[in-house]
Amino acid sequence: MANIPLVAWLIAGICFILSLGGLSQHETARRGNILGIIGISLAIIAALFQIEAITAAVSVLLILAIGIGGLIGSILAKRVEMTAMPQLVAILHSFVGLAAVLVGLSVYLWPIGHLVEGESGLEVHHDLIQKIEIILGVFIGGLTFTGSVIAWGKLDGKVDSKPLMLPARHFLNLLMILACVGLSIWFVQVESVFLGLLPLLLVMTISFVFGIHMVMAIGGADMPVVVSMLNSYSGWAAAATGFMLPNDLLIITGALVGSSGAILSYIMCHAMNRSFISVIAGGFGTGPVKKASDQPGEELTYTSIEAAEAADLLKDAKEVIVIPGYGMAVAQAQHPILEMTELLKKRGCRTRFAIHPVAGRLPGHMNVLLAEARVPYDIVLEMDEINQDFPETDVVLVIGANDIVNPGALDDPSSPIYGMPVLECWKAKNVIVLKRSMGTGYSGVDNPLFYKENTDMLFGDAKQSVDDVLYSLKS
Ligand code: NDP
Repeated sequence: MANIPLVAWLIAGICFILSLGGLSQHETARRGNILGIIGISLAIIAALFQIEAITAAVSVLLILAIGIGGLIGSILAKRVEMTAMPQLVAILHSFVGLAAVLVGLSVYLWPIGHLVEGESGLEVHHDLIQKIEIILGVFIGGLTFTGSVIAWGKLDGKVDSKPLMLPARHFLNLLMILACVGLSIWFVQVESVFLGLLPLLLVMTISFVFGIHMVMAIGGADMPVVVSMLNSYSGWAAAATGFMLPNDLLIITGALVGSSGAILSYIMCHAMNRSFISVIAGGFGTGPVKKASDQPGEELTYTSIEAAEAADLLKDAKEVIVIPGYGMAVAQAQHPILEMTELLKKRGCRTRFAIHPVAGRLPGHMNVLLAEARVPYDIVLEMDEINQDFPETDVVLVIGANDIVNPGALDDPSSPIYGMPVLECWKAKNVIVLKRSMGTGYSGVDNPLFYKENTDMLFGDAKQSVDDVLYSLKS
């Protein structure tokens, strides 16, 4: 009987590993999600069984907490717009960080399990390893908490996305880390619980400031890496909580989230051609708004077309590539786009989707939207798989994308996004850009693509524009 929770945890751990494996492919993502739900349900039930001497009052409190938390979570998940998903993910990371801090403080102060006979009766005693776990958990949790809150603010537009460039900011960061190391040494050496509270609270405060400063210094252009990096930190914070409690499943789960987040950060850095250290150092994307032309007096011109003209171009096409971006998520244009794809297929035109790794505001954002609209997976290709096909493409439809199709990233060293690989759609015969204005994208950089000879702008809300093109295609 005593082994049942352990077995349940083992099964839950296996479910989590299979869940992560499933989530890596469109075809298996749904199964991955279900396995994750089974795993976490098993873990909660097993954790409840593990509590020794549970009283009726504690059971009621636990059920209330799980019920209220579950209810709030379900309402939030149901209500959240696809465009607000990144903010939700960021704020959820902050909860993991805060939980690690609170668990750290309570494990330190709560005497159960750490009571020993002392001169003055029962005394709290923590061994060295446990103190290291506590201080690490509080430090990682603290910076994850405040860093994620700032990331939420930046993604939600509540905090300026420009990097905050304090003078001597690297020195400041170094100072905070050294202070935390010094305080940690003090913390593990001090015998009295009361005296140890001082360095612990100081490390907590410094980690809060460190988290705020670290993410404030990171510019809008690097936010994809920040989101995945905080995902990784939240995993390590959960693993630290697992060591403190101690709970093996939490250690496994935290390590899984931490390492998969770290791999994702690496992939995002690679996609943006940035080194992880340069992202963490911050300050990227500070320059003034970059115009498409720097020549004095040169007025760049663009051509705009109507939906019927766009439909005419599509009617003659044999090869079409659709590039979705953040604007597709805002307009919720994925459903009519699928209809358009099917219509073009019937006319003998091959239509495929090209996905940039940082399109939208969340890793995999576009894949989720296209999967929701039931776009067949075999026509959704990653940037590396399709980038060489643009020269043989008749029409490229850029739907609410901007930064990910900016040629300046390849040929303009003064561009803030210079070096980021992009979808080279301008090599196609015709490019049609669906957006509402000539406005810039997330990084605030003007896009020379819009002024190219083979590019036409189709202004308007992306969903409305796709609906209009569809109407013309059908008639
Ligand atoms: P961008 O933000 O570069 O461009 C989106 C474009 O969509 C805007 O220029 C806007 O133009 C247009 N748009 C907005 N609403 C609508 C609408 N209703 N209908 C039509 N068009 C619309 O998006 P991309 O996907 O091209 O690039 C992603 C950017 O986000 C990159 O800079 C990336 O670094 C960053 N980022 C990515 C994250 C990730 O993890 N994927 C996380 C955080 C940031 P207009 O206003 O004229 O309509």
